[in-house]
Amino acid sequence: MYERKLIMGFVRVHILHHATSPEGTYGLWMIQELKHHGYQISPGTIYPILADMESEGLLSSYEEKSGGSIRKVYRATKSGRSVLESLKIKVEELYKELNE
Ligand SMILES: [Zn+2]
Repeated sequence: MYERKLIMGFVRVHILHHATSPEGTYGLWMIQELKHHGYQISPGTIYPILADMESEGLLSSYEEKSGGSIRKVYRATKSGRSVLESLKIKVEELYKELNE
C-alpha cells in the first residue's frame, strides 16, 4: 500500500529526532515508541533502516551491554542533526498548509 511508503519517511524522522537525545536510541526502543504513535514496525524493518541511516552518515552507533546481550545504540551525527533541523522547518510548513 502506498501509505506505507510515506510512513517509512516519518519513521526516519522519528528515529533522527530520538537519536539526538543524549542517551540515543536503539531498535527495540524505537519499535515501542513507534507503536505508541500507531505505527506497526517489525525488527526486520527497523534494523535495516538504522543500518542505512548509519551508512548514510546520519547516525553513529556504539555497542552497549544490556543484561546478557549487546545492543547497538544509535546517536545522531552532526550531519544527522542538521538534516533534522531543516526537516523540522519543512514539517512545520507542511503541517500549516495541510491545516489551512
Ligand atoms: Zn517519536
